[in-house]
Amino acid sequence: MTSPLMSVYNRAPLAFTHGEGVWLHGDDGEAYLDCVGGIATDALGHAHPTLVAALTAQAGKLWHVSNIFRIPEQEALAERLTASCFADVAFFANSGSEAVECALKTARKYHAANGAPERIDIIGFDGSFHGRTYAAINAAGNPSYVEGFGPRLPGYIQVRFGDMETLAKHIASPTTAAVILEPVQGEGGARAFSGEQLRAIRATCTAHGVLLIHDEVQSGMGRTGRLFAHQWFEEAAPDIMAIAKALGGGFPVGACLATAHAASGMVVGVHGSTFGGNPLAMAVAIAAFDEIATAPMMAHVRVIADILSTGLNAIAARYPDLVVDVRGKGLLVGVKLVSNNRAFMALARAHRLLVAGGGDNCVRLLPALIMSEDEAREALVRFEATLATARAEAQLTQTSVLADAVQ
Ligand SMILES: *Cc1c(COP(=O)(O)O)cnc(C)c1O
Repeated sequence: MTSPLMSVYNRAPLAFTHGEGVWLHGDDGEAYLDCVGGIATDALGHAHPTLVAALTAQAGKLWHVSNIFRIPEQEALAERLTASCFADVAFFANSGSEAVECALKTARKYHAANGAPERIDIIGFDGSFHGRTYAAINAAGNPSYVEGFGPRLPGYIQVRFGDMETLAKHIASPTTAAVILEPVQGEGGARAFSGEQLRAIRATCTAHGVLLIHDEVQSGMGRTGRLFAHQWFEEAAPDIMAIAKALGGGFPVGACLATAHAASGMVVGVHGSTFGGNPLAMAVAIAAFDEIATAPMMAHVRVIADILSTGLNAIAARYPDLVVDVRGKGLLVGVKLVSNNRAFMALARAHRLLVAGGGDNCVRLLPALIMSEDEAREALVRFEATLATARAEAQLTQTSVLADAVQ
């Protein structure tokens, strides 16, 4: 089948006509329990009435104006964001990659503006994902994303996840600008840094005048049961943070947040965006923020996360032949499988359950934060049913292999 689309995605043969909450309605007439959530993006589920109202109200007033004018909605969202974390200022972009791009530029510009232009090195970790721009793929260093795109950019260093000794050596280097990490790696397979590691990295960066960037594009905006994942731990806050995905509840928007100190190089003219932070995006993001950033919502996320993790661990114990382990934090859940994760995703679809893939042969569950307790239990039922099918298929293959061998 030829398609007019660039063939960069491995797409499932399924499209959706509409959604409601954690349910997606396929063009095959079936209802699917959505544990992908547009990859941790549809934090309030599909067609959330508050977001629909915010979008349609703004659509009748003003969509887009240039950033050469004040955009009061940006100020309103920036006030909310900075009041709820370490940051003093925000820059709005359209995506996670752009938020990361701004974070990296902010870090290098800080050093250049403060008399140390030789500090350009960005230290990243294996298993990271920071997006698809040149800077983002170089910072994450995933070979399959950088190969064939010309020479690697200078000034990017990779450290093995957990190798704190090598990391400390690089942080101490006089050419290091910043460390970038995801407190909970998303695409890499829901791998979380420990509080101890995050605090140690924070302290080492501070000691050497190196900036710390957290990429909370996936882990942020309530996904782990706190507004930002690093807020689980005292004294772990970064200097700069990229967020996106759930920020707009499905509307494209990202942000780079920073302390005033870290952003001291970001003066008039050094950065910008045409669409970034336009009134339409801001109206939806403000509405999403006010729904997400509440104590009851965070408490709810922790309840649902507990149901999923308890249930999945019990299932893992019943299927040691198929499940390696369950990891992640909050509603950023990874299940590492023995057999191919892509095949499992297709089997899950047959059980009307949608799960995302992930590195390290994981499948990820990234449901909307509003998933109910009953829906969480239903997801577990469908997950286990998928494993039962996988086990039956494996046994069938084994039997036929045996039969072939006998013949
Ligand atoms: C998705 C993601 C990005 C990239 O976001 P895009 O909106 O796809 O550009 C960056 N970092 C992390 C941690 C992500 O999960």
